[in-house]
Amino acid sequence: MKKRILVTGGAGFIGSHLCQRLLNDGHEVICLDNYFTGNKANVIHLLDNPYFELIRHDVTHPFFIEVDEIYNLACPASPVHYQYNPIKTIKTSVMGAINMLGLAKRIKAKILQASTSEVYGDPIVHPQPESYWGNVNPIGQRSCYDEGKRCAETLFMDYRLQNDVKIKIIRIFNTYGPKMNPNDGRVVSNFIVQALKGEDITIFGDGTQTRSFQYVDDLVEGMIRMMNSRDDFWGPVNIGNPKEFTMLQLAELVIRLTGSTSRIVHMPLPQDDPTQRQPVIDLARKELNGWEPTVELEQGLKLTVDYFKNLLQQS
Ligand code: NAD
Ligand code: UDP
Repeated sequence: MKKRILVTGGAGFIGSHLCQRLLNDGHEVICLDNYFTGNKANVIHLLDNPYFELIRHDVTHPFFIEVDEIYNLACPASPVHYQYNPIKTIKTSVMGAINMLGLAKRIKAKILQASTSEVYGDPIVHPQPESYWGNVNPIGQRSCYDEGKRCAETLFMDYRLQNDVKIKIIRIFNTYGPKMNPNDGRVVSNFIVQALKGEDITIFGDGTQTRSFQYVDDLVEGMIRMMNSRDDFWGPVNIGNPKEFTMLQLAELVIRLTGSTSRIVHMPLPQDDPTQRQPVIDLARKELNGWEPTVELEQGLKLTVDYFKNLLQQS
């Protein structure tokens, strides 16, 4: 059935992939973005599609529209960008959630929240199941993002309990792929761009900290399955790739795949940088029709390297 779907943060990295996929699936998509970290260029190829609409709007202000579903992605996601204006970041998460939940309540739409593995903070339990409450610093450099996203989860659960809003919460683990912003400071885009330019590859700390990297197509598949999951399942559910790598391993892999002559250099580790991260995805497998990641890191990195090569040639 054709649905009208609102995607907030739709001009960002993940949002633009999601918009494309929803259009491919035959839906009508309204993409809402204030272009803080997103870019019109990410969705420019969709503008000719009569079922696609692009609207400049900031989710900290109320927004009115008639839709069947809302994917709430609006929020800067990289540490560099979310720490640039931390008050705005927490406002975006909290007021954005209130505005979008209020909208969902009024128009009886289903709403999915793009939460994050950052709700687990610097986790002491490893790997992380959804039942783990996390180890989060409430007053550190990452708090504007972590606590904003935690509060948004609370709001989602309370709108369900109090107002019967149809909610879905996913906790996204580190995701990468084409259309990442080359300047947003995340590790995959940083390493690839540095390697392609022959610049030093900047490892923060000794490089033994770990992350589990998910290719964007696997995430988008998980998001859509979650939106369409049974009515009495709202999560939160982890969506991530459980294969865990150190930042040193990632740097070496990027150097090999690009054939780069870049050197690895070490820089200070930022405050509260999580030492380890790996999702438990049993719940997603069970509730989302056997969903699991299908793209290996090496395969996904090759596609991402090709994207950045083209981008750098054009600039
Ligand atoms: P991104 O920065 O590329 O996308 C975020 C989008 O939201 C951008 O287009 C930005 O302009 C927009 N935005 C920011 N503030 C806004 C506001 N106040 N009003 C309207 N639009 C606003 O990041 P992304 O990686 O695509 O992340 C998308 C969502 O997924 C975010 O909510 C993020 O927290 C979540 N997430 C991402 C990852 C990841 O690894 N990429 C991991 C966990 C969670
Ligand atoms: N990192 C790094 N070099 C960089 C950028 C990031 O070593 O140029 C490290 C960072 O300290 C963290 C990991 O890579 O340990 C992942 O960082 P990212 O910002 O991509 O995501 P997050 O920390 O939010 O998971």
